Amino acid sequence: MNTSTQNSFTPLRVWLLAREAELVAEIGAAREADIEAATASGVAATDVNDLEDQASKRERTTLQDAEVRRDRAELSDVRAALARWNDGTFGTCIDCAQPIDFQRLSATPSAARCIACQTRFESTRS
Ligand SMILES: [Zn+2]
Repeated sequence: MNTSTQNSFTPLRVWLLAREAELVAEIGAAREADIEAATASGVAATDVNDLEDQASKRERTTLQDAEVRRDRAELSDVRAALARWNDGTFGTCIDCAQPIDFQRLSATPSAARCIACQTRFESTRS
């Protein structure tokens, strides 16, 4: 990676670092809310009138779980991209080693593959 390429990638690295901090904070906040919900439902479990309330709480928790899972997956992508930055392979496809289109990287700085390899990866995964 030459210096001018590195310079054009700098804003992407700044974005990745900010996104990493944001995701860590979101996941941490969700964990705290989880503990609160568990404590609250423990108290409400003794009251039959609260059954409906508990059901809606469970629904919210499931929704939150999905969000946390998504956040964790994104966090691992973001961290992998930062690791590639450190070893000098950021912006290079992990499958074919060709440069990833800059437009694609600007839209998704954590992208690990070029469009062709990503498309292939997604079609073989399902
Ligand atoms: Zn590729």
